[in-house]
This record gives sequence, C-alpha cells and structure tokens, in this order.
Amino acid sequence: MEIVRGVHQVDGIIGNSYIINGKKMVVIDTGLPGNSRKIINYIRVALKRSPNDVTTIILTHYHEDHSGNVYELKNLTGAIVAIHTGDADYVSGKKEMPEGHSPIQHVTPDTLLQDGDKIAGLTCVHCPGHTAGSIALYDPNRRILFSGDTLGYDEGKVRGPREEFSDDMGQVKRSIQILSGLDYDLMLPGHGSSLKPDAAVRVGEFSQSLQ
Ligand SMILES: [Zn+2]
Ligand SMILES: [Zn+2]
Repeated sequence: MEIVRGVHQVDGIIGNSYIINGKKMVVIDTGLPGNSRKIINYIRVALKRSPNDVTTIILTHYHEDHSGNVYELKNLTGAIVAIHTGDADYVSGKKEMPEGHSPIQHVTPDTLLQDGDKIAGLTCVHCPGHTAGSIALYDPNRRILFSGDTLGYDEGKVRGPREEFSDDMGQVKRSIQILSGLDYDLMLPGHGSSLKPDAAVRVGEFSQSLQ
C-alpha cells in the first residue's frame, strides 16, 4: 500500500518492508525469509517497475525479520546492500546469529553505514540498543522517520522494542531520546502501523515517560 506519495509498504510481510519509489528505488528492510517474491511482485504489479530499478537495499539491523530476504533480493535486483558497521558481520556470516534467532542466507554488505551518513536521500541515525548496529533512517524532505525496531506503534501507543530481543535497554532509552529530537511528521516502524501526524511529538512524550 502507498502510505504517502512515493512511499510504500509491501503488504503482508513481518517485519515491515518499505519501498521508496523514486527515480531510484530503495527497499528498507526485507522481512522474514520466504517473502522475496511478495516484494518483487509488489514492485512489478503495484508499482509497474522493474526489479532492476531498485538501486539500494538498506537494513535497519541484522535480525532475520528484517534481513531475511536480503540475499534473494540482492540477486533479483542487483541493488547494493547497506547496513551499519555494528551489525554487518551477522549479515555477512562472519558472526553467528545469537541464540533465539533463525539463520539467514548471507550476503556481504556493499556499504557500511555510520551515524550521519547520507544514503539515497536518507540520513543514517545510529540508534544502538536493540542491536549494536541498529539505525533509523531520516528523510528530512518528506519529514519521515523509518525507526526500525527501536520504536514501534501498536494500538494507538508508541512503544520501544521488546526487552528479550534487545541487547541493552539503557542504550535503547538514549537512542529514543535522540530520535525524539528530530523533526518528522510520519514514523514508519519495523513492526506495527505507521504513526502520524506529529510523530516526533508522540515519540518525545514516550521518551519522557521512559526517563
Ligand atoms: Zn529486531
Ligand atoms: Zn523486528
């Protein structure tokens, strides 16, 4: 479905997979393994584009519900794969997935992101805590924050990540505080539904409640 003009969420995938449908196409997160056909079909049928138009696949972190189709999608599109340095080794296979996580098909990331890097019109905001290399992606022009798993929105409530799947909840709190200081109207999380309007204000209130 189209969320706002040019920004889509591929229907029926856990975790959320977003597509920015510009001249260059960007896929943000790829969902659990077994969903690459859904993403490719969406590009072909809903967007009437070619998979080759995807230039960049960005992963908000390494967990398999976000990286699960990165291998197949890279092969089907020819896109580069970008992830924060702190999480890259799990996607390349240099590090094993921690206990409780399912394996993925590995790819060697093409671009290793750091805080503040610009990629495909988005700014990488490092927000460690859920994982060491978790990022949010900030689009200042469209006033959108892709929050990955650092922030979610369910049943009318902003929430943080589940503690049992997170490395360091203290870091998560600090990262949420940083994200509350950016200016955006729409938040697109890794799970749950989109939050708008006044997403940054709502995140600010949530951040306050954690202090
Ligand atoms: Zn996660
Ligand atoms: Zn997730």
